[in-house]
Amino acid sequence: MNAPTLECASAQKLKLDLEQFQNELASGSDHSDYFMLINISLLQIVLSANLRCGECKEHTLQLDFDDSDRDGFCHQIKVFCTSADCMWQSSFKTSSEIRKGSETRGHKEVKIRMVSFARSIGRGHFTLVNFSQHLNSPPPLTLPAYTTIASKVGDASREVGEESMIKAALEVRQANSDTDPMKCGVSVDGSWQRRGDSSHNGVVTAISVETGKCLDVSVLTNV
Ligand SMILES: [Zn+2]
Repeated sequence: MNAPTLECASAQKLKLDLEQFQNELASGSDHSDYFMLINISLLQIVLSANLRCGECKEHTLQLDFDDSDRDGFCHQIKVFCTSADCMWQSSFKTSSEIRKGSETRGHKEVKIRMVSFARSIGRGHFTLVNFSQHLNSPPPLTLPAYTTIASKVGDASREVGEESMIKAALEVRQANSDTDPMKCGVSVDGSWQRRGDSSHNGVVTAISVETGKCLDVSVLTNV
């Protein structure tokens, strides 16, 4: 007989997040909205072998990239016909643009996602430079663009985090007595940016023992 396993609140939270991600993948409802890494020469082969020119109807299409119109990870791809008397061509960008509120100019979705990725693993701009080099791709967005987007992603993350914690707290309250204040079990844990006593930044989280969801977080800094 196996001994029952006791999961700590943090492990419960990680399990919840992983289950949600796997459910989203399994539902498959958003495949059309994925970003994919694709080798350009393979794309060229498939294009010229299977697609015909919009005008002369020949298998004479080729790809070209206008690097001056590239915006970080967002590329401008031109498809054109190589037939002597045909001038057909079309171009498109590899990412849509996201604007917030009344902004007249937004940021390409792929750039926002890549900055969000770097932040999520506690890294910065150089990680994206490294990423591009390893993929044999052109350089990513510039450092000033990275800083601007990282700041906006930080604001948005804070907003979503606060909403999520209020929702999690209401869930705990509804499952227990309605007294104010009420008692509930939490697991409190902290972490520092660096080992030893030299770190200037730390974070403390309170996770519900009942639901495994984060109820509160506090970032501490003496910088
Ligand atoms: Zn043509």
